[in-house]
Amino acid sequence: MSTQENHKTFCPMPGINAGTLTLADLERITDIVRRHNIPMVKVTGAQRFYFQGLAPEKLAELKKELNLPDGLPHTRNRVHYVQACPGSQWCRYGTRDTLAVARAIGELVLEGPLPYKVKVGISGCRMCCCESWMRDVGLAAEKKGWRFTFGGNAAGRPRIGDLVAEGLNDDEAVALIERTLNFYLKTAKYKTRSARFMERFSIEELKKQVLG
Ligand code: SF4
Repeated sequence: MSTQENHKTFCPMPGINAGTLTLADLERITDIVRRHNIPMVKVTGAQRFYFQGLAPEKLAELKKELNLPDGLPHTRNRVHYVQACPGSQWCRYGTRDTLAVARAIGELVLEGPLPYKVKVGISGCRMCCCESWMRDVGLAAEKKGWRFTFGGNAAGRPRIGDLVAEGLNDDEAVALIERTLNFYLKTAKYKTRSARFMERFSIEELKKQVLG
């Protein structure tokens, strides 16, 4: 494909849970690529598949087929993406089930649209392969349970997330993340990432609002 023909369009493949693929997923992706003559499939850092390089009218057709909204993901009442390592199901070091928790967080329907994109990183042990400290929502498994951090960012102005709670079981972690995100969406200004929000809003104040 020449540079002129590369439309630089992209579209995510929905329904992929934290980068894990079944045979049915692979067959579906292959079918889509063949039928739409997609020139490039990219595996992103967010553990998703992106179909790239379609002409704009073909992209609109594909989005319709995949039932994707026209708006940006962060305008929905859900997190932007959930990244998880293989965890206890597939990694010898994993002590907790990252994939089950990733699914539960990805399915959360919040009380309104988030101010900006929220990325979640879930690691199944202290080695933290999913860079949990650097995600808006970070979970890392420790001996006593999940460690939850909020306000991390790995972009242009990196920030280490603030420690909100430790020793959580799966249900407690998901419930606390839901409370934290609902508080964030009601309190932060539109387009304020969690990192910038936490620079202005102290961790002590956040804990008062969401713990207990
Ligand atoms: S964070 Fe731990 S459990 Fe997850 S992939 Fe890395 S070593 Fe394995």
